[in-house]
Amino acid sequence: MGRDGWGEGKWVVCRSNIDSKGLCDYCGEQLVCVDIDRSETEKFEQSIASLAMKREVKSNFRDFQDWLDNHAEYEAVVDGANVGLYQQNFADGGFSLSQQLDAVVRELYERSQKKWPLVILHNKRFLSLMENPSNRKMLEEWKAQGALYTTPNGSNDDWYWLYAAVKLKCLLVTNDEMRDHIFELLGSNFFLRWKERHQVRYTFMKCSLGLQMPPSYSLVIQESEKGSWHVPLEGECSNETLRIWLCITRPRSCGHPVEVLGNLEAPEAYQPPYNISFNLCKAETSTTDNGLKGNPISFPLSENKITAVTGKRKDRSPSDLKQHP
Ligand SMILES: [Zn+2]
Repeated sequence: MGRDGWGEGKWVVCRSNIDSKGLCDYCGEQLVCVDIDRSETEKFEQSIASLAMKREVKSNFRDFQDWLDNHAEYEAVVDGANVGLYQQNFADGGFSLSQQLDAVVRELYERSQKKWPLVILHNKRFLSLMENPSNRKMLEEWKAQGALYTTPNGSNDDWYWLYAAVKLKCLLVTNDEMRDHIFELLGSNFFLRWKERHQVRYTFMKCSLGLQMPPSYSLVIQESEKGSWHVPLEGECSNETLRIWLCITRPRSCGHPVEVLGNLEAPEAYQPPYNISFNLCKAETSTTDNGLKGNPISFPLSENKITAVTGKRKDRSPSDLKQHP
């Protein structure tokens, strides 16, 4: 760990959050995005296809693959049932086509410079929605625009939307955490990394849609340009800006243990008029002389997050996801 640059003092460990731009609230350093490997994605795509072939009527899934080959321009795939049935488990709840699914479609259309997303919907659902004349107009337009694929009777549409998003390397809009038994067959490590980079979750607050795009940085242990380290703590977060990270820095010139002062944007520049320390932060803080090896804090990480990335790598690059702010 004998790097110059950040400092030579004791390591300071503090809890922090990362903002939506990937900046650490504590030290202000930028977190990086590690793209997932193309060939790994292609292997994953093939394993989904071969499992789907075993579970689905083979010719149906082949038809879908062929159809997709001719419609490969999508930037987002939408799990239609997941969006339409979101929060509909009340007395008059049903499938919310115009309020929810259409809102998602229109939002994606606007964000991608007027490119239609691909909605995957089960044929049975499609037929029942078509009975309503106002739905029919919307669904017919989607069909005409190539924005809707209906999966055949007897199919499990999960295979279709997952395969489409992986194949097209595009965003997938669903709140489904994909822990169903069918997803277990796909193994966890790569799948979790894929979801992190591709899944878009949504909310409807008082009928107003919010899309949570994948974070612009990767949830892996990483070293910044200046030599600070960031470690994501495990756990489900409805919003990645709420995830707790350990920010491990080595401030310059400290002959004695450093007082840690809460979440500062630029710790070096901050000169408090009096000494305060935040309880939460202080409780989680430890300093050590011998670098990270001797760090008494253990990091509860899930198996997919144990890869460390150093900020000095040259091959890191921004995500190739087509995101629009
Ligand atoms: Zn930091």
